[in-house]
Amino acid sequence: EYNVLVLGKKVFSEKDKHLIGYVQVTNDLVNYDQTRRKLILIFLVFSLIAAIGIALLSYGLSSWLLGPIDLINDTIGKINGDDESDALANLRVPELKHEDELAELGRLFNKMLDRMQRYIEQQQQFVEDVSHELRTPVAIIQGHLSLLKRWGKDDPAVLDESIEASLQEIARMKSLVQEMLDLSRAEQVEIQFGKEITDAKEVGLQVFNNFQMIHPDFTFVLDDDLKDITNVQIYRNHLEQVLIILMDNAVKYSRERKEVHMTLSKNINDIDIVIQDFGEGISQENIDRIFDRFYRVDKARSRDKGGNGLGLSIARRLIEGYHGKLVVESAVGQGSVFRVSLPLVKNKDNKK
Ligand code: ADP
Repeated sequence: EYNVLVLGKKVFSEKDKHLIGYVQVTNDLVNYDQTRRKLILIFLVFSLIAAIGIALLSYGLSSWLLGPIDLINDTIGKINGDDESDALANLRVPELKHEDELAELGRLFNKMLDRMQRYIEQQQQFVEDVSHELRTPVAIIQGHLSLLKRWGKDDPAVLDESIEASLQEIARMKSLVQEMLDLSRAEQVEIQFGKEITDAKEVGLQVFNNFQMIHPDFTFVLDDDLKDITNVQIYRNHLEQVLIILMDNAVKYSRERKEVHMTLSKNINDIDIVIQDFGEGISQENIDRIFDRFYRVDKARSRDKGGNGLGLSIARRLIEGYHGKLVVESAVGQGSVFRVSLPLVKNKDNKK
């Protein structure tokens, strides 16, 4: 029932080499067994120590590596759990100490929250602006209707005046609603009209001719450097709308010198349409803001001219939707220059 090591050998006589006996050595392997047991024990102990060591190390390492995910998780949980609207504005993933992909993830996540926050603020601002803009015409219409109710029914002069004024305000509301719709649509042009191609020369000339016809008291000067069809990637009506907005402003904000210039030109990559007037101009402090929604330099005067302060925001959004640029240079009292740049479509038609 136990292991022994046995070695047996024959013994021969030296003289005549015949078999004289057997020798047998037996080892009961006590040392061997002891050593084996010791080795197994050592192996087990070391394995255990190694396992505990690895477990501790991986726990430490993973909590060090995944700590940022916990922080991100915490932040998401807090934002989701917090019913107060300012949670999104105030809560951010704290700056992480080590520089790795997770720290980058935290930073990207914060950036995304910032963008969402800005978007929400813009929406709130938009709703506030719209309500504010609609309040005046509604108040005017209400005033006139009350006037009519009290005295106007029997007084044809009051009746006439009030109906006229109310109709004017309704027309203003209609144009305001239309412009707001245009503005919100302008944000999605790329998805809907990203593939439309338009001959900018033809549209430019058409708008120019139309303005010449509508405003006979103005001098319109055209400088057309485009030799042939010049295709740009934009939906035709959108380019026309932008040019109408700019030409309309040029006419609206001109004073004594009733002159508007339109220049059509191109370089290797872009087409430029420049509309210049010699009117009141825009001061440096206002120039960055004129593209903001509902921004008017002189609110009352612009309102008199039928402006809602949305034209330039629509124009810029449309142009940027087609990867173009709309910029302005202006000097007070000397006039303004609005420049539309749109990327050219590179194809055979254009080369021809
Ligand atoms: P509005 O409908 O009031 O014209 P816009 O968005 O088209 O709104 O223009 C915003 C403001 O920028 C205008 O109220 C006006 O003060 C200023 N502006 C725009 N175009 C011109 C221009 N050609 N000359 C001077 N001021 C301009």
